[in-house]
Amino acid sequence: MKFFLYNTMTREKGEFKPMNTEEVTIYTCGPTVYHYAHIGNMRTYIMEDALVRSLRFCGYGVKRCMNITDVGHLVSDGDEGEDKIEAGARREGKSAWEIASFYSEAFMKDYKALNCLQPEVLCPATEYIAEMIKLGVVLEKKGYAYATSDGIYFDTSKLPDYGKLAGRKHIEGIQEGHRVAVNSEKRNAADFAIWKFSPKDQKRQMEWHSPWGIGFPGWHMECSAMAMKNLGETIDIHCGGEDHIAVHHTNEIAQSEAATGKPFANYWMHIHFLIMREGETVGKMSKSKGSFLTVATLPKEYEPLAYRYYCLQTHYRKQLEFTWEGLKAAQQGLNGLRALAIKAKKEAGKPAELQSDAPYLVSFAEAIADDLNMSAALAVAWKTLKDSSLASAEKYAFAIAVENVLALDLFKEEELPQEESLPDEIMSIIKEREDARKAKDWKKSDELRAVLLEKGIIVKDTPKGTEWSKA
Ligand code: AMP
Ligand code: ZN
Repeated sequence: MKFFLYNTMTREKGEFKPMNTEEVTIYTCGPTVYHYAHIGNMRTYIMEDALVRSLRFCGYGVKRCMNITDVGHLVSDGDEGEDKIEAGARREGKSAWEIASFYSEAFMKDYKALNCLQPEVLCPATEYIAEMIKLGVVLEKKGYAYATSDGIYFDTSKLPDYGKLAGRKHIEGIQEGHRVAVNSEKRNAADFAIWKFSPKDQKRQMEWHSPWGIGFPGWHMECSAMAMKNLGETIDIHCGGEDHIAVHHTNEIAQSEAATGKPFANYWMHIHFLIMREGETVGKMSKSKGSFLTVATLPKEYEPLAYRYYCLQTHYRKQLEFTWEGLKAAQQGLNGLRALAIKAKKEAGKPAELQSDAPYLVSFAEAIADDLNMSAALAVAWKTLKDSSLASAEKYAFAIAVENVLALDLFKEEELPQEESLPDEIMSIIKEREDARKAKDWKKSDELRAVLLEKGIIVKDTPKGTEWSKA
């Protein structure tokens, strides 16, 4: 079926036309493993996962590659300052390799808890140094590289369309719009490192021999080299957070296209930031600032999948402000949707055979194929599972099908909860329903039962009074 995607490069939403529908190639920039990934980073991975799952739901085959940045990402995107991994090693009194391995593992744990699918290729940058050097040699031969005392740089003035992804016509635009630390040896402010030399006065833990001297690759080189090695010189979709448009992805395009003469990616998908209000200031959530929320440290009453639900409710091209009320509502929404799916399963026993042209399935597919309109897809899921004109077996089959995209563990049953663990709001609805029953207002009592079910709570009237359980 047709799939529509917004492309940062063309600034338009259009029909997605892959090179090969059986193997859509997707590259997603992975984590820099110098610290825990925060829930802002995870918004990006959740929406990338939704992309992969949605394409598969709509009949495409997908091959995805994601890197792990375990070297070369400097404290400043302008290729200045210390390597984030080496700085992490100093901060924690461990080796750079230990830091990279510890935070890679922590990342994958959170990533899996959010039901994000393992990419077909997951590659640490340190395993691709030879490919990066090879790419650097090609760029040097083609006249794009020059040496300074601290490294080999890419000359961005050689590319007339250097600023095309960020929508800046010429290189001066980039210089004005981007903060670059003063480096008098660089020919242009936007030039970036292909290779950095190890500092003369200090021993780096991660360093390699190269034709230019001992050192380490520039951060942008990683993604170009790994994407081209694993997916080919032109890929279908390249994803990442919106912060990567002006520098990282612009530089990936510059060096890849300068080397091959071919387009690097046909579609560019950027996920907008999760932000958090801190007092009066609304700030972007940032790992380098040190204080941030992670999936693993969310309070116990929230499941990681409640955060996935939270993210799916907002379009990926809109900024998302994180609030605790929002997360609480997402957990309740998740419980409610699960209650409906479990009810259908229990009533039906066996799922019906789904017809691919069933209107609710078509509506769901149309929503996800409309530039990942996941909130519309969620609305279709709610409407379908609540539809009293549909047989439970059909609803059950529908829930099984859409779980492949939503990945919310829709059939997960809760253990019997402790009474005190129910939020006040739900307790007061239970109480209101008890009062309605006492007043023999059966209509109101039934309405409140339905409200509770939507919130994931099943109530049973017993001689001892109302008993409840989570669906
Ligand atoms: P990093 O680990 O810093 O290299 O970032 C990993 C991914 O998270 C990249 O695709 C970033 O663009 C993305 N990212 C960083 N901060 C945020 C945020 N606050 N909201 C959403 N995505 C983010
Ligand atoms: Zn990247």
